[in-house]
Amino acid sequence: MIVRKVLALAGDGIGPEVLAATRRVMDWFQATGRAKFEVTEGLIGGASYDVHKTPLTDETLARAKASDAVLFACIGGPQWDQLPYDVRPEKGLLRLRKEMGLFANLRPAIVMDALASASSLKTDLVRGLDIMIVRELIGGIYFGEPRGVEQLPDGTRRGYNTQTYSTPEILRIAHVAFDLARKRGKRVCSVDKANVMESGLVWREEITKLRNAQYPDIELSHMYVDNCAMQLVRTPKQFDVIVTDNLFGDILSDLASMLTGSLGMLPSASLGAVGADGRQPAVYEPVHGSAPDITGKGIANPLAMIFSFAMMLRYSFNLGADADLLEKAAQNVLSGGVRTGDIAEPGQTPISTTAMADAVVAELGRLAK
Ligand code: NAD
Repeated sequence: MIVRKVLALAGDGIGPEVLAATRRVMDWFQATGRAKFEVTEGLIGGASYDVHKTPLTDETLARAKASDAVLFACIGGPQWDQLPYDVRPEKGLLRLRKEMGLFANLRPAIVMDALASASSLKTDLVRGLDIMIVRELIGGIYFGEPRGVEQLPDGTRRGYNTQTYSTPEILRIAHVAFDLARKRGKRVCSVDKANVMESGLVWREEITKLRNAQYPDIELSHMYVDNCAMQLVRTPKQFDVIVTDNLFGDILSDLASMLTGSLGMLPSASLGAVGADGRQPAVYEPVHGSAPDITGKGIANPLAMIFSFAMMLRYSFNLGADADLLEKAAQNVLSGGVRTGDIAEPGQTPISTTAMADAVVAELGRLAK
């Protein structure tokens, strides 16, 4: 059996707690002979700064690049907020993404039946929701040059950034979206602002050309970002896969994730290009941050990280059936009314992080019989 090398980066705050819970689930897959992992741990974020005076060492980065996949929890916390920007915890994560070439960010927004009432939208609008937002992660206005702040002769200042997208940058993210759509509902909605931005026009034209040349089986539609934001809260179930740039994706993916009502439930994957050796750099991480307000209390919801591990099984290790099994186990646990405090409904007694992991493991055992 192939041994998959996983680098686990717990980071800060609740990171070590949700990682420990996820490792219990990983252990179940190992113990039952479904997969073999060689897991090593490393420091990132404030935890790395405290030891090494940098949020990501070259050594940890090299280990991340040499692994088959990285499982990352979360970084940040008030104790590091006063540090200079170049050594802040966030910088460690940005460097990891950039240096590993993780250009595609996949964020599913799925509403499980048991949690449909947790959404801020009406239950029937979101029940059964299953959309995937594919965001370009290392291009666009967050990285475009020129950028800066300049002093003007009249004593005022001007801040500026540049939005750029080239054909190869657009095509590689579009391929990811079309390939995903092929395994789902075969529909892609590309989101841009082509009515007022040249970069959006190039984005739209390149994606259309690619679809016509290589993905005739996929239904492609285009939407302006302002309309998309509106449609996401009006009739979110109209979407299957949404593909968009870095800036719009940042905003829309947060919006879409909140349709599900619970930050502690949302996983994500960031993928790079498949190399000559067939390996694809990948980092799997929950959407939530380090939750300093509940750190150390043992009450964090580990499901976002456990679902991130399910995405790892599916996308990095081609173990789709095992990913399905894990997601099903977690859904059954929730349907049975077992909840951490963030998703508990009136009348339900919240359980701990560890108890949630144990409940998922027990349900895995029951399903696998
Ligand atoms: P946050 O996601 O950490 O917390 C927001 C709220 O959601 C808090 O009330 C928190 O208790 C709750 N929450 C989050 N995850 C939870 C979980 N798994 N279970 C139960 N409740 C959960 O966002 P924030 O408070 O804005 O930021 C806190 C720190 O995290 C900051 O330093 C920020 O920079 C950092 N951050 C990191 C990431 C990341 O690592 N990718 C993402 C966002 C924020």
